[in-house]
Amino acid sequence: MEILNYINGEWVKPNVTEYVDVINPATGAVIAKTPLSTKADVEAAAKAASEAFVTWRRVPANDRVQYLFKLRNIMREHMEDIAKLITDECGKTFEESRAEMVRAVENVETACGIPHLSKGEFAEDIASGIDELMIRQPVGVCATIAPFNFPGMIPFWYLPYAVATGNTYVMKPSEKVPMTMQYIFKLIEQVGFPKGVINMVNGAKEAVDGILEHPAIRAITFVGSTNVARYIYSTAALHGKRVQAQGGAKNPVIVMPDADMETATKIIADSAFGCAGQRCLAVSLAITVAESRNEFTELICDAASSRTVGYGLESGIQMGPLINKASQQRVEQLIGLGANEGANVCVDGRGVKVKGYENGSFIRPTIISDVQPGSEIWKTEIFGPVLSLMHVNNIDDAIKLANSGVYGNQASLFTTSGNAARRFRYEVDAGNIGINIGVAAPMAFFPFSGWKDSFFGDMHGQGMDAVEFFTQKKVVVERWPKEWSRKF
Ligand code: NAD
Repeated sequence: MEILNYINGEWVKPNVTEYVDVINPATGAVIAKTPLSTKADVEAAAKAASEAFVTWRRVPANDRVQYLFKLRNIMREHMEDIAKLITDECGKTFEESRAEMVRAVENVETACGIPHLSKGEFAEDIASGIDELMIRQPVGVCATIAPFNFPGMIPFWYLPYAVATGNTYVMKPSEKVPMTMQYIFKLIEQVGFPKGVINMVNGAKEAVDGILEHPAIRAITFVGSTNVARYIYSTAALHGKRVQAQGGAKNPVIVMPDADMETATKIIADSAFGCAGQRCLAVSLAITVAESRNEFTELICDAASSRTVGYGLESGIQMGPLINKASQQRVEQLIGLGANEGANVCVDGRGVKVKGYENGSFIRPTIISDVQPGSEIWKTEIFGPVLSLMHVNNIDDAIKLANSGVYGNQASLFTTSGNAARRFRYEVDAGNIGINIGVAAPMAFFPFSGWKDSFFGDMHGQGMDAVEFFTQKKVVVERWPKEWSRKF
């Protein structure tokens, strides 16, 4: 597949010399090449989006969402093909890719409610003959910078809300996985949005810097690692833009002794090893409380050892490879570091070769017990199928430990006690909370939250937060005294 930019309703080949290989992480084969677009390409996209904004913002919201209804239907029709592409460039299993697209479509469906969701407020007679109203208007040209791990879903936390509220838009997919958006933009083209309303620029740092600096781009959403999120947040703010930046994660799960241990283990294994652990809501740190330790450790080690690993388009495969060799080596090194720090690698997923896919970047599920607070393996976001185990004697210490890391994306608790559940929900410092849930992914009509170093900004993606983010409020106070009407 040739990777092109989509600017002003045209497919454009950027004038570049540098490309990044797109690799099928299961086979190791190069399946495409991402052009590293320059600031000149961002300039062309921003110009097209600025020009389109003049008329698009005047299209009634009801008419704007008609395009989204069409997009929703066409995305559903092509869901299987998109899911196959996601598996090929990203590595996750076909079922995981399909589930990702279901959530993407849900966001389009939620944004179809924008005529209602973005309507303003009105207060009559705040003083005699004086009314006050708040109207929401679009921000202008908006842009998204996306990560590799959900190439189909994450852009849809933003794109449908941005355009339905009257903004125009520039999308920058991850250079590691450009094919999914390339395909989806073919569908966007078929929907027939007016030229320049939705644009795409492929590339990496230079394209991102072009977006951050461009005066016409008024709002930026980012999802990726924490260091880059911090850079995006501060640089975009320095250039006077509205910005939200989702960062990395290290999600704790607490296992209480009264939990239904078999169910808990199954759900926790799915969370830790699903998408090969490359999910910002994956649990990566299990804290056992009191006598839950032995049973949970035994069950989770069995679950890790018995998972089938391979190419995600083959049947019966439960876990695919990591995104690339560099990632595989990094995760393997971190497991080694854990062992050097004195932790116990009780299920070791390093050095696996999958028959027929010897060039894939596979690693098997890994369990590391006796991880110490403050150690590197405890602190670092591993972003692979590695679950660390820690143990405490009571829920107080468990919540304290769960709150002691720098991230705050998700925290989960497994228990049959309503009291423990309430305490946990109340006291834990994370934006997404799971009670007997391993991946507490919010539906499209809730915000995708995140606290501490997992998020920089205030309003999040999805639902009403997205409506807030992509609109600016205008408050109007009007005086229409009764006496004036007598003049006619
Ligand atoms: P990444 O930070 O490497 O890249 C994300 C985007 O930023 C890409 O589009 C990339 O081109 C760009 N980028 C990378 N380095 C840059 C730089 N120095 N300057 C400017 N732009 C740069 O992230 P990734 O590896 O693609 O994704 C994995 C990370 O994303 C993990 O840390 C994961 O936790 C996080 N993530 C977070 C959430 C969330 O909701 N909090 C969701 C998904 C992924």
